[in-house]
Parts: sequence; C-alpha cells; structure tokens
Amino acid sequence: MTSNWAGNITFAAPEFRRPASIADLRAVVTRARQLRVLATGHAFNDLADSPGAQVSLAGLPPEVDVDSAAAQVRVAAGLSYAEVAGRLDRAGFALRNLASLPHISVAGACATGTHGSGPANQNLSAAIAGAELITADGDMIELDRGDPAFPGAAVHLGALGVVTRLILDVVPSFDISQRVYEGLPLEVLDDHFAEIMASAYSVSMFTDWRVPRLTQLWLKALADPDDPSAPSVTEEPWFDATPAPSARNPVPGLPPENCTEQLGVPGPWFDRLPHFRPEFTPSAGDELQSEYLLPAGYAVPALHALHRAGDQMARVLRICEIRRIAADDLWLSPCYRQDTVAFHFTWIPDTAAVLPVVALVERQLDPFTPRPHWGKVFTTPAAGLHARYERLPDFLDLARHYDPAGKFRNAYTARYLR
Ligand SMILES: Cc1cc2nc3c(=O)[nH]c(=O)nc-3n(C[C@H](O)[C@H](O)[C@H](O)COP(=O)(O)OP(=O)(O)OC[C@H]3O[C@@H](n4cnc5c(N)ncnc54)[C@H](O)[C@@H]3O)c2cc1C
Repeated sequence: MTSNWAGNITFAAPEFRRPASIADLRAVVTRARQLRVLATGHAFNDLADSPGAQVSLAGLPPEVDVDSAAAQVRVAAGLSYAEVAGRLDRAGFALRNLASLPHISVAGACATGTHGSGPANQNLSAAIAGAELITADGDMIELDRGDPAFPGAAVHLGALGVVTRLILDVVPSFDISQRVYEGLPLEVLDDHFAEIMASAYSVSMFTDWRVPRLTQLWLKALADPDDPSAPSVTEEPWFDATPAPSARNPVPGLPPENCTEQLGVPGPWFDRLPHFRPEFTPSAGDELQSEYLLPAGYAVPALHALHRAGDQMARVLRICEIRRIAADDLWLSPCYRQDTVAFHFTWIPDTAAVLPVVALVERQLDPFTPRPHWGKVFTTPAAGLHARYERLPDFLDLARHYDPAGKFRNAYTARYLR
C-alpha cells in the first residue's frame, strides 16, 4: 500500500515488510533504523508513515483465544474488529462497544483512542487489559493493568513499539435493535441533549448543518425488554423526530445496503453497533474526517458555536456526527478523565478546501477545550495539543524510556510530540 485508506496521504516509507511470524517480526524490528506499523491505514494523517520501514502484521497467525473464566480475549493485534467479532460471538462473548465501522484493526484503533458512542461506554482502548509489545531493541515485553506504565501505553500512537497481541475485556454476547429517527429540530437539544444521548445503549446524532435539524438520530438499544435504556417509543414520533420508514445511510445520497440492519430488528452486537457493514466500503469512501472531543457538559454551547459556522461547514461537509463517550484514565485518550461529547466531521475529499474550515471549527470549539482525534485531520499545533492532553509530557517520558533512539518516530511525532 502506498497511501492510506482515504488516499490523502502518500506514504514516504521506502521499505515495506510483512513478516509471517513473531520471530521474523522481532528480527525486522531489531534490524530497522526507523519503523512504524501500518495496520488497516484508516488514519487520515501521516501517523502510520515512517522515514524507514513500514511493517504490516497481517501475515501473523490470526489468534483469537477466549478465556471464558477471566472474561477476556487475547487477539493478534493486526486483526480487524470484523475478524475478531464473529469468533468471539461464537464463544458467547462480545466487546462492549465498537466504532462506526468494523474494518479497522484492533491495535490501530486502540493506538489512537478510537471510540463508538454511549454515555456509559468508554472508548475501545479502555477494553485493553494487557498488551504484548516488541520494543526498539527487539525485546518482547508484557504490560497489564497493574503496571504503572499501562495507562500511558494503552493509547500510544505507535510511538512505543510494535504491539503484537492485546488482551481485551469481554462481556456475555448481547443483542441490539437499531432504529433511525429523522428531522429533530436542533433547538430540542437545548433542553434534551443529555436525555436523548442516554435514551439507548449507543446514540449517534447526524446533521449536515444546512438547516437547524438533525438529519438522522440512530438509537442502538439493548434488545432486552427489561433494559431501562431501551427507547420507550418505537413507531411513533419521538421528541419531534419521526421514525424512518425504511433503512437509511447516515451519509446523504449513499445506499442503505452498506449499513447495518435497522427498523428495530434485533441482531448480534457486532452486526448493529457499527453503522457500516464489513463487506461494503464504510462511510462515503471518498472523504476526509476530523473530530474534536470535549467535556460533555459543553455539548449544547458547542452546538450553538458550530451552528454559527453552519454555512461555511456545509459547503465542504458530507455529514457531521455527534456522540457521547464515558471518561477513562488513559493518558492520551481524548476522553481522559472527562465524560465526553465528540463532534465528528466527514468532509469532501479536497484538503485545500477543507483545511480552512477545519481551522474555523477549531476556533468555534476553542472555548470548550477540544481534544482533536489523533487519527484524523486537524490543524491544532503542538502547543495546543500539550494544553489539551495534560499527560502528554508523561507520555513523552514513556516513549523515551521504550524508544530512546527514536526508532518509532516519524514526521507526525516530530510535528506534534515534541
Ligand atoms: C471510514 C472511517 C470511519 C471511522 N470511524 C471512526 C469512529 O467511529 N470512531 C473513531 O474514533 N475513529 C474512527 N475512524 C478513525 C480510525 O478509527 C483511526 O484512524 C484508527 O487509528 C484506524 O485504525 P487502523 O488500524 O486503520 O490504523 P492505521 O491507520 O493503520 O494506524 C494508526 C496508528 O496506529 C499505529 N499502529 C497500528 N497498529 C499497530 C501495532 N500493532 N503496534 C503499534 N502501532 C500500531 C500505526 O503506526 C499508526 O500510528 C474512522 C476512520 C475511517 C476511515
């Protein structure tokens, strides 16, 4: 692969390796002067690039080992959530949450603090109970939650070494039913934002900022009649929103077939928590993305601030998604010690046209202390990241400890992780 999934980054790495065993991978790491893992390449910036080698873990054995007694699964780091989910479900277990797509690798998603939605759901890296890592000199180390370095190492941006396996917490398998509502006026959110976000296991709001309304509202409820978070209404208008009469795609103009089953039909967690099905291109395919995560208490004033930039955003926007994520304790997590609201933007694939609007969004959100998503397009300078990610200095100490000579550094870390 010479570019990322979105095609906006052409990788400069002069060498690409795909070892077939952990022993070969260790040899690749030991020999390389500079190295980075390239997983499924879904980051929208040059995070996965390297001035030396890029290495793929896709050739390693696809281990998914469930430990039922411990309620944990050990997975090969290069597997995608789609590859893990079916095997985990067949063993009777589930991950608590998933992102909008199952195509991304487990390690790549966790490395950047990737998240789904739900006020009680933490981001995906919070499920990590332990990790195996090859450090710069080829040593294999294990980290678990008891290790003082663990909260610093869970969201690592690829800067600490090569993660070979992750141990994830799992829960008993569960079913979800998904319903889409349309046309909720934005003003309803002034008084009901928190209530609507808490009205199902996972809720996503979508708007195109063309008119002051949510184009769609996706409710993913536990398909359990005793679940208190299940929406109390199904076929009826709800908070001035009307139930979609047929399946929808959140991206305007794209077919609903690409999306997971809706209309309240219950189904397994891995077939409902993501919006997009693994066998189709997720989202628009032809796009850029940015995302900012801020304290959940700022959701309504942030919505108003964004609304004031609605016309400028709408010109280069495919869709905006608003989600909630629970706080965690991971140093580089965008949800570090704060219950979070996330404002996500799927832009048209035109970097020159999009960047000024990204900067505008950052200005509008600035009073609300936004943390940019590490894996998406942002213009926040290093100083701004240090101000928002308060444990960044501790993380840099950790990176120097594991990688004193800078084998895993690249242009991205030079720009932002100084
Ligand atoms: C269509 C689409 C939808 C998305 N939806 C969401 C969403 O719902 N929520 C959200 O939060 N994000 C979302 N993202 C962003 C995405 O989750 C992140 O960019 C994520 O990092 C992609 O994972 P990847 O496996 O493709 O990683 P890559 O892009 O391949 O790598 C990302 C980083 O992780 C490092 N890395 C990967 N594997 C390893 C490893 N084994 N050891 C060490 N370092 C490693 C790489 O070196 C790089 O630094 C979306 C992206 C796309 C394209």
